[in-house]
Parts: sequence; structure tokens; C-alpha cells
Amino acid sequence: MSLRKRGRGTRAKSARGEEWDELLDGAAAARRRVRPSEQIDALRHLFDDPGLAGVDLAAAAVVINVTSARCRVFLDGRDLDCIVPPEIAARQKSALAVGDRVLLDDDLRLAAILPRRSVLSRPDPLNPHLQRLIAANIDVVANVVSMKSPPLRPRLIDRFLIAIQRGGAAPLIVVNKIDLDRDLTSLIVYEELGVPVIACSTKTGQGLDELRAAVNGKTSALVGHSGVGKSSILNALDERLRIATGDLHRRGTGRHTTTSSTLHDLGGGTLIVDTPGIRELGLWDLTPRALRESFPEFDEPAELCRFNDCTHLHEPACEVKERVERGEVSRARYDTYVRLMEDLSCEKR
Ligand code: GDP
Ligand code: ZN
Repeated sequence: MSLRKRGRGTRAKSARGEEWDELLDGAAAARRRVRPSEQIDALRHLFDDPGLAGVDLAAAAVVINVTSARCRVFLDGRDLDCIVPPEIAARQKSALAVGDRVLLDDDLRLAAILPRRSVLSRPDPLNPHLQRLIAANIDVVANVVSMKSPPLRPRLIDRFLIAIQRGGAAPLIVVNKIDLDRDLTSLIVYEELGVPVIACSTKTGQGLDELRAAVNGKTSALVGHSGVGKSSILNALDERLRIATGDLHRRGTGRHTTTSSTLHDLGGGTLIVDTPGIRELGLWDLTPRALRESFPEFDEPAELCRFNDCTHLHEPACEVKERVERGEVSRARYDTYVRLMEDLSCEKR
């Protein structure tokens, strides 16, 4: 079983993704300008409306950075500064994301956000009822980790894998700083789940070709704890980028190096979103059922649990728990599952 195999929960989104590709293909024929006065939400629903067939999707710009009232976009090889209408600006972090495909009006005002083929999102840390978009329309989300300095945080990996899978992108684990520690034993479980693991070092250059091949021609996002080397990796992939890394910030600015997500164009159709480092990742809109489906290694033993709807927590004759005891299912992953289930039952109360 592979994490890349989409759970039931994400099927609807990938189907939309296919429709979206089809629409893009047919877009050259489509000609109709979007009226800027229309409300964004109304426009968003055009997707379900045959009216969208008339919109010139080929003219869609790609969002590369978002600030409160403005956003930067790529359009026809140019980098433009656009106005975000107040309706969207008010909900900026939940309404508009780096990677979004947008339509602009003649005054460079954002007129519509097109349907997304994938998202990476989390609940807003300050208001958990608000979905906060980290990036949109990404093919691959690379969770960058280090074994040492900062130490590996397997629970954060598990959480990222769930968020990635639910958002419809493919996961990748990038272990940086292997010049410091080459023992990758605790990551074998992810490879067994079908998640590709690439080991690299921006100091020695090891593994960077493999990473280049994995992101080539795709839209990817680099996510992870701060200090693991996301900015260094981007600089290593394209030396023109010159993104400030932790070295600089230790030397004195005292500020975080990356404070908002930015999309970088590495040429040849390779786009990479750099995201701010995070310590915690909440999971958006997670139900107990979706959580169980996020642990594909439970699927087969779950068939042998005494109860059909076994939650693998307290039930007797639970094959999942027995396999954890026998060392056949990763205890670290099971522990993440138990924690997340507990979080869900706390939220309900
Ligand atoms: P970010 O917060 O994830 O963007 O991490 P940075 O790219 O700013 O890197 C954090 C620190 O790790 C900096 O001091 C880098 O010089 C260092 N670093 C980055 N890559 C490597 C690596 O491959 N090996 C070692 N030893 N240090 C690295
Ligand atoms: Zn069970």
C-alpha cells in the first residue's frame, strides 16, 4: 500500500484536477472577458457552470506571492503586481494562495480565482475554524527534514503526509544534512509506504541531482520545520535565487528567513514554492474515518480486527494493535495515529 495511492477522501479532488486539465486544453478556443465587477465567489462557481467554457483560461496568471492588498503574478513571462479586491484581501490567507491560477481585469485587478487541482492547507493557528492555504496547484510536496540539527520529528512528517495526501498532491521526503548523520533507519517505514525518500546535503552536493530529477518540470512545494535547509536547497537547485538562509539570520537580523510562501520559476517548467518553516502542523477538516484512511498500513490488518468499525484504540482483538506489538506495524506511526485520534475526540467535546 502506498501513501501515494489516494484515499477515498481525495478522489473527488483529483477528478476535479482532470477536468481542470481538460478545460485548460480547450481554453485556446475560449474567448470571453470576465467582468471585474462580479463578486469573486460568484466567479468561482463559474467552474460548475457551462459559462466557464467562454473564459479565456489560457490567459490565467499564476500567483507567486501574496501580501494583504496585492499579489505578484506571472503572466506571459512577465512578473506583475496586482490589486487584490477587498472581498478577497479580507480573507487573504484563506481565499488566495501561492500557485493559484487567476484571471485579471484590464486594471490588473484580480478578477477570479480558478478551481484548484490540489491544495496544501492547515487550520489557522489562531482560529482553527479557518482554513489557511499554504499553496495551490502543486504536483509534489517535499517535506524537508534533517536527522540532526534540528532533530528528526517523525510526528511532523506523519502530519505532513496526511495533509499532502488529503490535498491531492504527491508526497516526497527530502532528508537534508546527510553530511551530519547518515543513519536513515527511522525513515525506512516511509519508503515501505511508497513515499519516495531522497537523501541530500547542500554542503557536499550529494543527492541534489536526484532531487533535481524529482522536481523537474513540476510544481513542487518545500515544507518543513525551520532550519532543516529549505532555503539552502532552493539556492543549491538554482544559484540565481540567492534566498537568505539561516546563516544570515544568525548573523544578526534576528528575523525569520522566510515569512511568506513564494513561488520560484527555475525554468523548464519547474516551479518551486518556498514556505515558511513551521513547528506544528494542524490538520484541516480531519474526521476519524479520514484519519484511519490516512494510515494505509492499517488497511490489511483492519480486515482481521474483531469489529468492523474498529478504531484500533481500545477494542479487544484488534489486529492493528497486535501487529504493532509484534513489530510488524511501525509503533511511531501508530503513536501518531493515537495522538491524532485523541485530538479529534477533544475537539468534539
Ligand atoms: P530553512 O530554515 O529550512 O530555510 O533552513 P536554511 O536553508 O536557512 O538552513 C539552516 C541552516 O542549516 C543554515 O545554517 C545552513 O547553512 C545549514 N545547512 C543547510 N543545508 C545543510 C547541509 O546540507 N548540511 C549542513 N551541515 N548544514 C546545512
Ligand atoms: Zn483494530
